Amino acid sequence: MTKSKNVLKFETLAVHSGTQPDPITGASSPAIHQSSSFVFKDTQHAANVFALKEPGFIYSRATNPTVGHLEEKIAALEGGTGATCTSSGLATNLLAFSALMDSGDEFVATQKLYGGTAGQFRDTFSRSFGWKCNFTDPDKPDDFKRKITEKTKLIFIESLSNPQGVIPDLEAYGKIAADAGIPLIVDNTVATPYLCKPFEYGASLVVHSTTKYFSGHGQSMGGAVVDGGTFDWMKHAKKYPQLTTEVSGYRGTVFARDFKEAPFAMYNHAVGLRDLGMNQQPMNAYLTMLGMETLHLRMKAHSENAIKVAEFLSKHEAVSWVSFAGLPSSPYYKNAQKYMRNGWASSLFTFGLKGGYDAGIGLVENTKLFRHLANIGDTHSLIIHPASTTHAQLTDEQKITAGCGPDVIRVSVGIEAAEDLMADLDQALKVAKAKAA
Ligand code: PLP
Repeated sequence: MTKSKNVLKFETLAVHSGTQPDPITGASSPAIHQSSSFVFKDTQHAANVFALKEPGFIYSRATNPTVGHLEEKIAALEGGTGATCTSSGLATNLLAFSALMDSGDEFVATQKLYGGTAGQFRDTFSRSFGWKCNFTDPDKPDDFKRKITEKTKLIFIESLSNPQGVIPDLEAYGKIAADAGIPLIVDNTVATPYLCKPFEYGASLVVHSTTKYFSGHGQSMGGAVVDGGTFDWMKHAKKYPQLTTEVSGYRGTVFARDFKEAPFAMYNHAVGLRDLGMNQQPMNAYLTMLGMETLHLRMKAHSENAIKVAEFLSKHEAVSWVSFAGLPSSPYYKNAQKYMRNGWASSLFTFGLKGGYDAGIGLVENTKLFRHLANIGDTHSLIIHPASTTHAQLTDEQKITAGCGPDVIRVSVGIEAAEDLMADLDQALKVAKAKAA
């Protein structure tokens, strides 16, 4: 669950971290501990583990050895001190926020967010938990600053937003959060730590949907929150009582005082997962770990392919615009050069078709390699028309604000041969045009 910061290179950590050979069997591949509970050595051991006086496993809702291996790998790759895995990316937000927010509290978040996160923040968080979100333009860090009040407990941004490809000025947000004495939470799902390291720019916590580039093969749902281990919770004790006062069920324990290395990760396991129950399944953790061993190879291939496909589309007669931070024409190109490895902008982007809504439907219906589905970060190339699917419930105005107007197509470029992907898009655009004529 926790691990000190590491000096090995990313590629080595991707392969080795969290997956030491099993000391008893010698198994090189991590075991899938498909067990709900774990036998205690004796009653004293049971009492100690329950009281957090000794490390150990009790029940897989809170901790599981296989999931623990994945947590170690994710923490190592992000450069954090600990991590907590969950059943999905959205479950991670709930877990992280529950440690920081009381009913009536507020937070400030970018308005250019993955649609599911925006809905979670706008609707369920406010209705069911009383957590109010102030949505703000990510291009205007000063607006975030102005919206911070006594009740504000955190700032939330995406390092590379889905689907608009916004790359905010991470350093500016790190400073605003530090000045306000609140944690900056960065969703690093689309960039992944191979391209971007939010802790280096002032983030205190990093969240992930591991469903995407981490698992990488579209096979396992999951999420993770990574503890940077640097936020001084005790200094801001009044704001964060869950972490800085005795917690129900653990008499005498104050997480920020007693677990100095990764208090947030400890709290998330001992209290968050215990009470909310969105633990990740061992099989999913195993598959995600396998995927992560090649994260660096895949992210390179994804990013290089995406640049080729985006350049091709930007010159295509049927395309009116391409929004991709990997192209010099993007307003986020400069931030990509500053915050992303090699200026790579991952492989998710949007583009507009001159033929509008009907052309968008026509393209999606006629691709042969690009798969029409609602996911990103797969080895396969993926395509979707947001206005008729993921964002269909929004008003026309909301769709445009979210970067998902009627003409918009979103692609997640896979790791196939770029030439084949460009040929596929070209033939689908031609077929769609012929059918519309
Ligand atoms: N964050 C981002 C940036 C996403 O793209 C997604 C899903 O697409 C999520 C969070 C939510 O993740 P999950 O679908 O695993 O709940």
